[in-house]
Amino acid sequence: MSPGVPAADSPQDLFRQRTRPVDGEGRHLEWMGYRTNKGVPFFRWRKRGFTAGRMAFLMQHGREPVGQVRARCDYEGCVAPGCVEDQAMRDQLNTTFNAIFGGLS
Ligand SMILES: [Zn+2]
Repeated sequence: MSPGVPAADSPQDLFRQRTRPVDGEGRHLEWMGYRTNKGVPFFRWRKRGFTAGRMAFLMQHGREPVGQVRARCDYEGCVAPGCVEDQAMRDQLNTTFNAIFGGLS
């Protein structure tokens, strides 16, 4: 912990401390913290490891993500809670898409 940085009370707090809005409306968030050697935004809180994507997803949806968390927006590397989705959500979208358009041909 570097001097002057208050200890985070929760992983959500830590997440907020390590992100910064990339546009005026604050819809997209840039990760300012550590990345793994694969480039995945990552942090530790009380000896537990979190990826930024997982934390963003938890904050937005209140459940653990299934599979890989990715932003669906156009901002490269965005970790905004409102932008991330997991594999289950992508599967759901595909299923809906097929249900609507799959039978037309
Ligand atoms: Zn975004």
